[in-house]
Amino acid sequence: MDRIYDLLCEITGKQYVSNRQEELYLYSRDPGTMRPSWPSYVVMPGTTEEVQKIVILANQERIPLVPMGGGLVLSGLTIPLKGGIVLDMKRMNKIIEVNKFSRYVVVEAGVSHGQLQSHLELNYPQLRHSIPDSPPISTVGGNVCIHGSGHLSQVYGFHSDMVNGLEVVLPTGEICKVGSCSTTPYWFARSPLPDLAGLFLGWFGTTGVMTKVALKLYPKQRKKDVMMFVTENPEYVPEIIYRVTETEVAEDVNVVTAPKPDWMEGFQLTNIAFTGNSDMEMDYKRKMIRQALEDYINDREGGFMFLTADLKKGFLETPQRSVARYADVKKGGGFEYVGAIMPVELFPRAYREGLAIADRCGTTYSFTVRIIGRAHCMMFAFAYPFNRADEEDVDKARNALHQTNQAVLKLGGIPWKAEAPAQRQIMEQMEPNTLKLMKRVKDLLDPNGIMNPGNWEVL
Ligand SMILES: Cc1cc2nc3c(=O)[nH]c(=O)nc-3n(C[C@H](O)[C@H](O)[C@H](O)COP(=O)(O)OP(=O)(O)OC[C@H]3O[C@@H](n4cnc5c(N)ncnc54)[C@H](O)[C@@H]3O)c2cc1C
Repeated sequence: MDRIYDLLCEITGKQYVSNRQEELYLYSRDPGTMRPSWPSYVVMPGTTEEVQKIVILANQERIPLVPMGGGLVLSGLTIPLKGGIVLDMKRMNKIIEVNKFSRYVVVEAGVSHGQLQSHLELNYPQLRHSIPDSPPISTVGGNVCIHGSGHLSQVYGFHSDMVNGLEVVLPTGEICKVGSCSTTPYWFARSPLPDLAGLFLGWFGTTGVMTKVALKLYPKQRKKDVMMFVTENPEYVPEIIYRVTETEVAEDVNVVTAPKPDWMEGFQLTNIAFTGNSDMEMDYKRKMIRQALEDYINDREGGFMFLTADLKKGFLETPQRSVARYADVKKGGGFEYVGAIMPVELFPRAYREGLAIADRCGTTYSFTVRIIGRAHCMMFAFAYPFNRADEEDVDKARNALHQTNQAVLKLGGIPWKAEAPAQRQIMEQMEPNTLKLMKRVKDLLDPNGIMNPGNWEVL
């Protein structure tokens, strides 16, 4: 006899609710290093109205409610730290509208990036959205909720910058629209209204449940290519990025450093991806990129590496499967990363800090940087693989992540999609009045503290 279970079944139908241990097990953990914590129920709503009824029930009964998309954030943000209900959004997977002329798409928040990518490829081959390198089942809602980034971020910024509007169920049950869709039938922009999207983006589901998202789409060119610039001196990387982004030709710029495979050790590899509609345009862009870095070649401080067809194919994939394969570096695979958002000029210091931390913690590493918004900042991922079956090895990675979070804040960066302990580190360093403002927003929207408690918890 379980009253809450029965009430949840009344809302969605029995087949979409579970309180069975073997199913709750899956929702009690994620692929990262955060320790498990069990929910009492998982429920999969199919409509905004069902979400609303579940939120009202959770609020009335003071039960924690944790929204979840793909559950792939890696930093424990969908682990129900205080138990309660996991709200699995994957059934809310309708692509509602593509507006070709105003270049946006409206989707339910549980639509996956893979689903949206294939929908556009099939039906609107001249349009594309920015794709993160997470496995294709990661959702649009989960990704914008953490300020994700992807293969068009170097041009257009964070994925949250690409949001035109939202439909949200507030923690007290009201359904609310944000952006032009609040006032007109169109989801064309967040301007010119007061921008309320900031009440939800970056909050990790602690201020409401997003049920619909409008995302900007971009023109898709017919041809694509990638060039790789190699140097051995991390001090040069900020200038290399500056010169490449100055051309305004590159679409995705990543810097990769890793001790494996052997040929990569000690080098900083800058991948520069670009697209165009004709061979002439592609040739011109290649020349511009080469010219931008010519001085380094003349001074013998760097050069472009020849990429085999296979390597090229891998680097041009969206998402890049090699990123997910990193979890298999160690037997019993797993990896987690601190994705630090920081100014590009911090690259050499971040790189040296990362090497020192990996050495101190006795773990291997891989560093990947994605340039965001014409080098307005970068996401520096300090990734540490671990063998999930070896608790000592997991601890080493945990320790490396903890030390990296500390080092990033000290350097002047901010850990992205931070685990609950790292959120506390951020808040300790935050200006006190900003923290008070966060608390007032949170208390106003979620007076009973039911939404994803334990995250962004201002005490
Ligand atoms: C191999 C690998 C590569 C990755 N590469 C990238 C990358 O290139 N770019 C990038 O941005 N990320 C990357 N990630 C991180 C992460 O997987 C993605 O950001 C992913 O898109 C998150 O979406 P999700 O659906 O899995 O979110 P989840 O993990 O399900 O949720 C993330 C957060 O959002 C909240 N949330 C989820 N849905 C909702 C909703 N509807 N309403 C309110 N809150 C909600 C959750 O409570 C949680 O706090 C990578 C991860 C892996 C494993």
